Amino acid sequence: MEKGLLIILSGPSGVGKGTVRKHVFSDRALNLRYSISMTTREPRPKEKDGRDYYFVTDEEFEKNIKDGNFLEWAEFVGHKYGTPKDKVEELRNAGYNVFLEIETSGAQQVIDAVGDDEGLVTIFLMPPSTEALEARIRNRKWEKEEVIQSRLAKGKKEIESASLYQHVVLNDYVQRSSWEIRHIIRTAMNEANSPKPIDSVSNK
Ligand code: 5GP
Repeated sequence: MEKGLLIILSGPSGVGKGTVRKHVFSDRALNLRYSISMTTREPRPKEKDGRDYYFVTDEEFEKNIKDGNFLEWAEFVGHKYGTPKDKVEELRNAGYNVFLEIETSGAQQVIDAVGDDEGLVTIFLMPPSTEALEARIRNRKWEKEEVIQSRLAKGKKEIESASLYQHVVLNDYVQRSSWEIRHIIRTAMNEANSPKPIDSVSNK
């Protein structure tokens, strides 16, 4: 069985990653599994432990770092977030395409760690404008002004890192951007399954 892809989606807070992800996941043929991260931040209304994140204490998070359990981890606006390594490998080995929704420094760590892994697909979701982004963040209403400001500042930095990614997708309309992402994934799946040219096959 072919090992599944490792797909990374990044983008600034408020760009709409979650909504786009739901649309992408509705395409069952893509055989996707979401990688549930661990975080030290508080759950938001409607978020569920074990579905949206594993919500843990600082101590638990530190222990996981020490034990080498993360594929990557990063601090984001005062909290830590990390991708459990074993789960990702387990799912990929079972043939699933594993979908990581992580920020840019974590994405950089994965790119460094997996090197020229043929199954890596990196996508940056770009907002149509910074005004649209700010309006969305403010609309959520669950965060304090200082957190909003930090998320906006961090978002601007993240946009500067977009060139790290293989694909930059404009999130102008969710139907269109999610269609584009589905197309990117489908193309990567076809490439992974196509016969390799003779000169790229190692004879080790
Ligand atoms: P939020 O608090 O809005 O859920 O997430 C804040 C940021 O952390 C988002 O950009 C989100 O994609 C990112 N994030 C979520 N999980 C992880 C993770 O495991 N690792 C890294 N590096 N970033 C993550």
